[in-house]
Amino acid sequence: VYNFSAGPAVLPESVLREVQEEMMCLPGAGASLLEISHRDKLFIEILQDAESTLRSLLGISDDYSVMFMQGGATLQFSAVAANLLRGTGKKAEYLLTGSWGKKAIEEAKKEGNVGVLFDAAKTNYDRLPTASDYSCPDDAAYLYYCSNETIQGVQFASEPECPDSVPLVSDASSDFLCRPLPIDRYGLVYACAQKNAGPAGVTVVVMRKDLIDIADENIPGYLHYKNHHENESEWNTPPTFAIYVLGKVARWLRDDIGGLANMEDINRQKSESLYKIIDESNGFYRGHAQTDCRSLMNVTFNLPSEELTTKFVAEAGSHRLAALKGHRSVGGIRASIYNAMPREGVEALGNFMTDFASRNG
Ligand code: PLP
Repeated sequence: VYNFSAGPAVLPESVLREVQEEMMCLPGAGASLLEISHRDKLFIEILQDAESTLRSLLGISDDYSVMFMQGGATLQFSAVAANLLRGTGKKAEYLLTGSWGKKAIEEAKKEGNVGVLFDAAKTNYDRLPTASDYSCPDDAAYLYYCSNETIQGVQFASEPECPDSVPLVSDASSDFLCRPLPIDRYGLVYACAQKNAGPAGVTVVVMRKDLIDIADENIPGYLHYKNHHENESEWNTPPTFAIYVLGKVARWLRDDIGGLANMEDINRQKSESLYKIIDESNGFYRGHAQTDCRSLMNVTFNLPSEELTTKFVAEAGSHRLAALKGHRSVGGIRASIYNAMPREGVEALGNFMTDFASRNG
């Protein structure tokens, strides 16, 4: 089955095979990785290797801390604001471009003063702001955005305009590692792993070290980035299995794919082939995102009716094309084509879409 799920999602086949091979007995351990302590030298090496592979993939300098946390991307909605907003007397500014940004704002409001500089609600979150749509004050606690809104399928092509004095914060959960990322433009980037980076259970946080000390000492210990940074992601038991698989995915990207620029080329080819079918369908398929905001990862589109949408999902299922139903808040179809979705899977979906339109258009 080709699995178009928005997450947890496909993993590279070679990674799954390696994990299967090592599941009963991790080389050198005499036990499964699932059975060894997070303080065991073998696991520490796995964690350090995952971090250094990520650092080399993304070009992350020593000015940044890389932390592996639990709680999903959702905990980061609170953690970001608890660390960088609570007690500062400042206002945090948000660009609201979809469902995940909205949830992040709800949580941040519990921590302090929040402003929304841009809200795409009027056009049902089909577009992104340009520099002329907003202006971020120089003294904001941070400017927050979601680089790829998974539900709507809108993705920033590059970083939004942000004053040098303001830390830029990104929820990169659904496009992390899909292309090179200029980390030095950011104060903080976080991503849950279960789309592009590994299994559910681990969230990667990349944070500029000089921001780590801003937080009030009284915030809950788990939320406090300083605890994770100072203890090298071992403040408590980290999600050992998820970190182990994430390290293998990062290695696959570096060694098999040849790095993030290559991955971006592949992702562009895959997504463009589907958008082309949408654009050439004479209005049978209507993309949700405006053309210049389209996501490389989540291709969202509608069909002429609810009945045809149901039929599309059912027929696709019998062609072994799974999990294509759009999110309930947007409807239609969503094809999530993360890094590990093979070209053949996208090609099979494209052929099905063309055939379905010709039979039902
Ligand atoms: N942010 C984005 C962009 C997402 O796509 C998701 C999950 O789909 C989340 C946040 C929430 O992630 P989690 O379920 O790990 O809390």
